[in-house]
Amino acid sequence: MTQSAPRQFPCRNCGAGLVFTPGTNEMTCPYCGDVNPIPTTSQTVDEQNFLEQLEVDDGQSSDLMTEVLTVRCQSCGAQTTLGPNVTAGRCPFCDSPIIAARAQSQRLVKPKALLPFAINRDQAMEVFGRWLKGLWFAPDSLKRTYQRTGMNGVYLPAWTYDTNTQTVYVGERGEDYYETQWYTVMVNGRSQRQSRNVKKTRWYPANGQVTVDFDDVLIMASQSLPGRYVQELEPWDLKALQPYQPEYLAGFFAESYQVNLQQGFEQARALMEEPIRQNIRQDIGGDRQRIYTVNTSYHDISFKHILLPVWISAYHYGNRTFLFVVNARTGEVQGDRPYSWVKITLLVVLMCGLIVLGLWMLQG
Ligand SMILES: [Zn+2]
Ligand SMILES: [Zn+2]
Repeated sequence: MTQSAPRQFPCRNCGAGLVFTPGTNEMTCPYCGDVNPIPTTSQTVDEQNFLEQLEVDDGQSSDLMTEVLTVRCQSCGAQTTLGPNVTAGRCPFCDSPIIAARAQSQRLVKPKALLPFAINRDQAMEVFGRWLKGLWFAPDSLKRTYQRTGMNGVYLPAWTYDTNTQTVYVGERGEDYYETQWYTVMVNGRSQRQSRNVKKTRWYPANGQVTVDFDDVLIMASQSLPGRYVQELEPWDLKALQPYQPEYLAGFFAESYQVNLQQGFEQARALMEEPIRQNIRQDIGGDRQRIYTVNTSYHDISFKHILLPVWISAYHYGNRTFLFVVNARTGEVQGDRPYSWVKITLLVVLMCGLIVLGLWMLQG
């Protein structure tokens, strides 16, 4: 069991709290600039046994679990852990003040691996600026909000699952054939016989078994970001996962998972359904397939709890808060945006005017 207070990493030079530098294996002192390398670890990114972990109940102590201090945002409900040396006091998802004194201890599955930030805050701000400039019908004043906007680095929680599946199915195989149909038409008052080919399908019973192996089915365990963002931020370079080390969290937020290990697996099962059905269709063969029953068993289920890095700006415009999110590995961007109804209305009026003018000239 690890201690609940986030570990601090003091600068060897001046003692101030170090901050992880994106794109490197170093922590930097924000005060004296001293660069401190992150020690290499002998840990590896292993899979963990799913069923064993499910049995680890809250009363037992296990070195797979960890006790962490999480702060719940009173405004949006996001639960974050403040990484070592995090000084920001605002919720990264809605920009409301969060009160660190209200932190509560939570027992959670330990993260196994993470993708460290590759893109730094300045680069994320630049991407944000470019995105704002490229928006059609954005209010002009929106571009000014950019200067006032903060950006937070957050590690989002996720699960990956591996499993070998075996599926027994019952269905039917359809084979197409053509049948010649004769019919009579009247041509110039005389009846004439003509033929046409009609496609038909013959169905045969089909049943069997398919095995499909899945590797790293990714389920986001955050509920603070809308689902569509999470999908759009993919793909993640999971091959580059590194063993979890708290040094990589220094200066960053980490959201604690809201979708637990079991719920995550239910979602993963839903994702596996379609690939399994595709395999069944291939196994049935023929021109078309019907699937009546599908019975899947999941073997050797293993999982990893991982953390994925994003830069988030919860920016205000009018009375609303919009979210802008950057995948801090790839620079992929997702954002909510306000529209300028004045600009859109002006354009519509202009288009109508042009149409009327065009019609008038055609008549002339
Ligand atoms: Zn220092
Ligand atoms: Zn919040």
